[in-house]
Amino acid sequence: MILAAGYLSSCAPKAQNDCGFVQNIYGQRISWKSQDTIKLIIHNSVPVELRAAAIRAAATWERQIGRKVFEISEDSTLLTGSPSRDRKNGIYFLSEWESDRKSEQGRTSVYWAGDQIQEADIRINAADFSYYDLNPQQLIGSYNLKKSSGKSSSDGYSFEALILHEMGHMLGLKHRDGSTVMATHLAAFSDRTQLASVDQESIKCEYK
Ligand SMILES: [Zn+2]
Repeated sequence: MILAAGYLSSCAPKAQNDCGFVQNIYGQRISWKSQDTIKLIIHNSVPVELRAAAIRAAATWERQIGRKVFEISEDSTLLTGSPSRDRKNGIYFLSEWESDRKSEQGRTSVYWAGDQIQEADIRINAADFSYYDLNPQQLIGSYNLKKSSGKSSSDGYSFEALILHEMGHMLGLKHRDGSTVMATHLAAFSDRTQLASVDQESIKCEYK
């Protein structure tokens, strides 16, 4: 059995240091593996007031990588319907969310083949959380609470910080602990909009 396992693994690609990235079953880091820009469409569900925050989050990753990475479009005709594996990368602001996953602020689905990402979609939970851009007094979201109680949430979350995190996933990064934009939970009114040194180092393992 041990010999058979040795034989099998010798046929597989060589495992890499994770560098903060999700790895495939062979231990290879997954990323877009291309200098081409990633076309990312802002779905028309994303409030106009929050869109500039998404564009700034993209620019923060691009400054670190040193080149244009995202080609962001707000053309709503390019992206219709709900998030699905449709060969288009989108950001969706969803007023409905699974009731058993209420604590989730956002979710990024990443689809890859081999070690190359083919598509990624960012879903933002606007059913259970409210978001702001620049002005923490102006909150948008918490649609579930509004529906059930007529009230709005008093907690707000930085849309830029959340999108910065979800774009990290879109680029292939996984969660990590400590001072990093890839920490799992974003605290209310936390403007975590700058990359930490660990983020700056890890992104360079795959993007140059
Ligand atoms: Zn995450």
